[in-house]
Amino acid sequence: MPRAKDLDRMTDEQLLDLRLCDLPLKIEGTPLEQRVSWIYAELDSHGLLFKPHVWLSAEWFTPDEVPGFAIPFYLAHPRLAKLERRQMLEVEGGSEKECLRIMRHETGHAIDNAFRLHKRRRYRELFGSFTRPYPNWYKPEPNSRQYVLHLPAWYAQAHPAEDFAETFSLWLTPGSRWRRQYQGWPALRKLEYVDAVMGEIAGKAPPNKSRRRVAELPEIGMTLREHYANKRRHYDFEWPPDYDRDLLRIFSTEPQHKSRPSAASFLRRHRRELRREVAEGTGAHEYAIDQMLANMINRCRDLKLRVGLLPEHARNKTLVLLTVQTMNGIHSGYYRIAL
Ligand SMILES: [Zn+2]
Repeated sequence: MPRAKDLDRMTDEQLLDLRLCDLPLKIEGTPLEQRVSWIYAELDSHGLLFKPHVWLSAEWFTPDEVPGFAIPFYLAHPRLAKLERRQMLEVEGGSEKECLRIMRHETGHAIDNAFRLHKRRRYRELFGSFTRPYPNWYKPEPNSRQYVLHLPAWYAQAHPAEDFAETFSLWLTPGSRWRRQYQGWPALRKLEYVDAVMGEIAGKAPPNKSRRRVAELPEIGMTLREHYANKRRHYDFEWPPDYDRDLLRIFSTEPQHKSRPSAASFLRRHRRELRREVAEGTGAHEYAIDQMLANMINRCRDLKLRVGLLPEHARNKTLVLLTVQTMNGIHSGYYRIAL
């Protein structure tokens, strides 16, 4: 079993051979410890005695009926964050701001479990039934004003429990001007409800005091290689089988463009910025968008396409094509965040 300082010297291949249970990681002494203490301070600032317990696991999640949440292991060591980026092209919760956002979301689930808020009648009326099964996919309505906007991909629309967690999380965010921001939105009623309930449970110890941890890192026997193979499968989309006509609207097979740069090299050059822009705009995972780009590069090569337009036009048209395809992917069912 390696020591924490050994990880820095290991190659990606060596790391991928390690089992998750063999990773020498702790929350103590990492920036995660401080971030958790900030969340505790935010709860304190509202007079809430409840504090979720946290542990390391493979992903972000709050287990059913547990008033605490799991944090993914890669946030506990910079070398593993780097591996995550190489494997998945982005590090979910990697920046301080994003990490705190996800922690507030998970705290929403945890406080819901701690006080069994989902059993209240008004909760059910506003958010829906907590016990409704999670769908395998959801079809968000991007313009809906029934839901707050917080995590990407209109995540509040995925399930009543997510809707509550997202509403809570926005409410908890320091400096959030939710009253003004959501004025006139039906979602404001949900925020006001959260505000009233938190006022009511302030100063109270939660009835559910369980400290249970689920799928803690030392219990996970799979290797990092297996873990990433699963994770990539999970995040991939059903991309359209045929979009040659779309490519032919952007790129050219005309003989007069024979000496122009190839479409494949053009896309390779812009690959990173395109996938980042589309991920920001749609909330989809960069890994999923990159799969589509890889596919497009191959198809452009097969069709021997060239850049006939001005590069800026070709780039904009590619951005639109990728965005439309990504939105289709989201609408056909896409789960951005594991619970
Ligand atoms: Zn959630």
